[in-house]
Amino acid sequence: MPDELSEDTIAAISTPPGEGGVGIVRLSGKNAIEIVAGMFASSRGKDICKGRQRVFHGHIRDSRGRSLDEVLVHVMRAPHSYTTEDVVEINGHGGMAPLRAILDEALARGARLARPGEFTRRAFVNGRLDLSRAEAVMDLVHAQTRAALNAANAAASGALSRALREMTDTLADALARIEAAVDFPEEDLPELVDAALLDGLRRTHARMAELVQTADAGILYREGISLAIVGKPNVGKSSLFNALLRDARAIVSDLPGTTRDRLEETITLEGVPARLVDTAGVRNAENEVEAIGVERARNAAQQAGLILFVVDVSRPCSPEDVALAEELAKIRTPVVLVRNKMDLVEGADAGFPNGTLPLQCVAACSISATTGAGMRELERRLAALLLGDDAPPADAPMLFRVHQKDSMRRAAASLERLLENAAASPELLAVDLREALAALGEITGETTPENILDRIFASFCIGK
Ligand code: GDP
Repeated sequence: MPDELSEDTIAAISTPPGEGGVGIVRLSGKNAIEIVAGMFASSRGKDICKGRQRVFHGHIRDSRGRSLDEVLVHVMRAPHSYTTEDVVEINGHGGMAPLRAILDEALARGARLARPGEFTRRAFVNGRLDLSRAEAVMDLVHAQTRAALNAANAAASGALSRALREMTDTLADALARIEAAVDFPEEDLPELVDAALLDGLRRTHARMAELVQTADAGILYREGISLAIVGKPNVGKSSLFNALLRDARAIVSDLPGTTRDRLEETITLEGVPARLVDTAGVRNAENEVEAIGVERARNAAQQAGLILFVVDVSRPCSPEDVALAEELAKIRTPVVLVRNKMDLVEGADAGFPNGTLPLQCVAACSISATTGAGMRELERRLAALLLGDDAPPADAPMLFRVHQKDSMRRAAASLERLLENAAASPELLAVDLREALAALGEITGETTPENILDRIFASFCIGK
């Protein structure tokens, strides 16, 4: 952030818009306390600029002395605040209108409206958080499931950033020793790449490889996945949707082709947020309304992370099922075969043996969407497919973003090169180490270019 920008005192409503009743206007910057002092009347006649008291009760008044809201004012002096600057939080309890009036008053007195993520960006620029923690703060706001929340909490409190710091320290240490050898080649330095140093680098490499390996789980916890339920009409797609959702949002009917709209809901599979998309029967539509539904179903299937292909085992496999399977085989998305209506047939092998369809499935489950039989197993299989067998617990240090995984992969590759050529010249070893450090720096934000930081912080909410 250019220097003149951090000279400003910024202000924003930090609580989400809505009828919450309680809300916070937050200011940060060198004039924050003074600006609020000018608009605040303490009920005990106290001056918030003086003394060590941190919480004050009173009223915010406009320039004509009218009360805008009864508030608690929380003063946090630099550097003991989120941004490390002077921060004042005004806790109002009158809903959005008074909060806006308080914000307007602060702006009229010289504060500037904060850009999205600007408080967190100041915390980052002032060294209070590294980029991985700043991004985790944003994830905390958006976490949809308990597991995602635990993961974001762990990262926000610094588990990942500590792991990154340790790796960076090990590499920087090694680089310093190797550079010494480059600078003073004639001097009698101890053996350059000794066993202890190599050992440390090997451990760091293993740690990096592990973070790359578990990143997909982290990304999944954060972003979730979209599951499309596909099948010809009347096989039980809506019933499955409902069974997964355990409520009755999708309309269940006996008439083929009545689920015309795409319905979407988010469920949790072992902590992974999954957007469940119920599609109309993908088949040759006879009328226009349905044609649109069919089109959307195809799109949903194409965009999904996983397709649940539902068949009705109480009926023989029809040309429609086969045509659909052929259609799905053209899409690269993995397919789980869901053999529904098991309650209507005897024996688990009845109907649709796995080889009947011209389609490779990653898993097959037998269920009854109406009795609930097999649903647990289906959910368990889905979660295992998504997370893999050895998914880390959500609160382990984990990478959560595609860009983090990419940087870590490059860091690991550079280090691997170094370990393979440990006998090479110090110059070459230093090149690998510098590359690895630069890649790590992209995750902590140390080497992230300004324009990328702009983009990252712009995706935050205002007031964060
Ligand atoms: P969709 O057109 O694929 O969405 O199918 P629906 O979910 O609307 O179900 C069609 C019909 O099959 C309804 O009458 C459901 O009650 C029935 N059905 C769905 N799943 C099952 C099941 O597991 N067992 C039985 N016996 N009936 C089911």
